[in-house]
Amino acid sequence: RAKELGGRRVEVFAAHMHADVVRRLELAADLQRALLANQFAVEYQPVVDLATSRVTAVEALVRWWRGSTFVPPQQFLGAAEDTGLIVPLSEWILREACREVANWRASSWDIGLSLNLSSRQITAPRFVETVEAALAESGLPASALTLEVIEEMLVEDAEEITSRLSELRALGVRLAIDDFGTGYASLAFLRQLPVDMIKIDPSFVSGLGRDETLTLLTRTIVRLGHDLGLIVVAEGIERPEQLELLREMGCTRGQGYLVARPMAARGVDSLMRTSLSPLQNTA
Ligand code: C2E
Ligand code: MG
Ligand code: MG
Ligand code: MG
Repeated sequence: RAKELGGRRVEVFAAHMHADVVRRLELAADLQRALLANQFAVEYQPVVDLATSRVTAVEALVRWWRGSTFVPPQQFLGAAEDTGLIVPLSEWILREACREVANWRASSWDIGLSLNLSSRQITAPRFVETVEAALAESGLPASALTLEVIEEMLVEDAEEITSRLSELRALGVRLAIDDFGTGYASLAFLRQLPVDMIKIDPSFVSGLGRDETLTLLTRTIVRLGHDLGLIVVAEGIERPEQLELLREMGCTRGQGYLVARPMAARGVDSLMRTSLSPLQNTA
């Protein structure tokens, strides 16, 4: 009986695995087709100076419509990494976003570009040259580009990743630690990399004014960042109360649905033309 039960369990497990494998293969095939068919898009979320409300940068965020279904990046980036498709996809995002932001800057709008990196992308051959080429082609100055990394990336290939990022930093590109405070080694990361900016994870910002510990931790991260001479960006600002507290803490930059949602390039165009800060709508 035990054997029978055990056997059935194996069967159930195998069937489950099978479905999972099929789903992942389908996803991988769809990703490949989507890349060939230009089905990816880039959206841009404004980052503002919390004191002046001026837009300082836009963060590029990849978008995929699989048929008529929107697939969030977290649901396909893993498969894109596993299959290696992340490399051509990221290169396309890099070129596209550099080109758009260089155009906005050509209209005398002094904004920067923030770009999320994946570890497979950084360790791919010629990564540094690819970034240099995208800057040269678009005319975007290196100092206007910020590359965002998360500390999980240093778990494997730490040396290679650190040295690639240091090479880019030497070209004048800025580096940011995304989701700051969520990894186990945030402070060690600050010593390992020549970082210019930290982005406070929304899990802290969400608790502002509601949770004493999270409020205190946010205040501490803001102070730490500033003491180290870093630009501090608060991510995931959704409520006016969070904005007020961040301003009071002296946090200089912010991003979140309250300020502006990610938008297509056309949305950024009209934001630029009205020359209104997205924050003026909420003031
Ligand atoms: P991230 O870099 O931390 O990006 C911020 C995420 O928070 C974005 O989600 C953005 O849409 C969302 N967000 C912004 N403001 C708010 C807010 O006020 N409330 C809430 N609840 N969410 C907010 P998205 O676009 O789904 O991206 C998720 C993650 O996927 C990103 O986190 C980043 O790690 C990754 N990702 C996105 N685009 C790319 C890309 O082009 N390349 C790579 N390698 N990773 C990307
Ligand atoms: Mg990011
Ligand atoms: Mg983040
Ligand atoms: Mg994230």
